[in-house]
Amino acid sequence: MTPAEQRASHYTAKRQDRAYLGEDWNAGDRDVDVRCHRQWIAVNRKAYSCVGNSAGQRHEVPAGERMLVQSALIEGRWGGYRLCLKCCDEWLDQLEGLS
Ligand SMILES: [Zn+2]
Repeated sequence: MTPAEQRASHYTAKRQDRAYLGEDWNAGDRDVDVRCHRQWIAVNRKAYSCVGNSAGQRHEVPAGERMLVQSALIEGRWGGYRLCLKCCDEWLDQLEGLS
């Protein structure tokens, strides 16, 4: 693949960054003790695995793609995960479809 093709294969986010950052992605885990939760959007320096959304499955996201990164102290241990913007969009599409 040429660099131009690689760029063209990048997922183009449907929303502005603040739409992803303003979402509470852990809303379903209220019974878990989560502290110091932070989230930001980062460009992958290498391939990372995306945890997927309710419909999707865990999958690999190549270097150069932007992902939502989450970090938190979960039940006393630092943990984090990454979600690609495509999965974020699918998730938000679903939420908007329900409302
Ligand atoms: Zn994903």
